Amino acid sequence: MNKKELKIPLRVRKLKALLGRLSESHPKYQEISDEFHRRMSGYRGEQSLQYYLTFLKENNYLIFHNLRLPDISGKHFFEIDILLISPTFLLIIDAKNYRGELYFDWKFDQLIQSYKDTRKSYNCPVTQITRHQLQLKRLLETFKIPLTPIETLVIFTNPNAFIDASKDFKYYNKVIKSPSFLQKIELFEKRNKRVVLEKSKIQKLSKLLLKHHTPHDPDILAQFGIMEDELIKGVRCPKCDFLPMNRKQRSWTCPSCHYSSSKPYYNSLKEYILLFGNTITNRHLRGFLGIQSISTAKHILISLNLQYKGSYKDRIYLINEEALKNIHNN
Ligand SMILES: [Zn+2]
Repeated sequence: MNKKELKIPLRVRKLKALLGRLSESHPKYQEISDEFHRRMSGYRGEQSLQYYLTFLKENNYLIFHNLRLPDISGKHFFEIDILLISPTFLLIIDAKNYRGELYFDWKFDQLIQSYKDTRKSYNCPVTQITRHQLQLKRLLETFKIPLTPIETLVIFTNPNAFIDASKDFKYYNKVIKSPSFLQKIELFEKRNKRVVLEKSKIQKLSKLLLKHHTPHDPDILAQFGIMEDELIKGVRCPKCDFLPMNRKQRSWTCPSCHYSSSKPYYNSLKEYILLFGNTITNRHLRGFLGIQSISTAKHILISLNLQYKGSYKDRIYLINEEALKNIHNN
């Protein structure tokens, strides 16, 4: 049963919003674009694993995607791509969608990727998942959950991954490609037969994990050192994504696809939230959407029915994606 579904991670959505508002000639564009494509590829890899997860015995497993949990110090977090909970064992899965030749260099604890003319070095995912195993074990102790075997797997999801390792690499049993997943599950089931987690304990653990899950919600502009005035302003066309639409009388028209609407703000305000967070003022709205008129901006804010604080002139509105549902996109 899926307890926490796979969704596009918040950071990926933030990177996409930022890219959509930056000129390709901006000095940070390439760096942001690279990170976006790398993370999006990781997400697609996890998506491709969904197929194999559907073969699990429905009643036997709870599935959690993208958990970000505090370690016992409370200062650091660790991220688990997929966690399976069964009555007899837990399984941590780290999904990697890398392609090309992948070489585990155990001597230096690194994974080397060679693809076309490029070579990259990554931290070894086996080392990482072993650390997560320990962090999860300690967390379960603080939750007072009975000591449960924790299995780990690094799954390479890209069919175009060619995996090899140095002679001293000892963890062949922890690294697979997606199609071997079910064989591994059978093996884990065979070697973990004793029921450790009764139904009530599984429910308790599930609740605690969801309660302690802390999404990574960085201020993306601050992280890349980008100022508000470096962003492209305007209302984005809801039909073809062109930016900016032109305002004529009371309506907005797209110069690219000629779509016209009186309230085309939905996507643009979603971008605003991803880039600036959950507060907005009349001035910020005008700045971001490229609107001159204070009263037009006020009209938009009122139509959203937002909660606000502060006096009339300095009013700060609280905005979130839920509130945007008040806009009709036509
Ligand atoms: Zn358009």
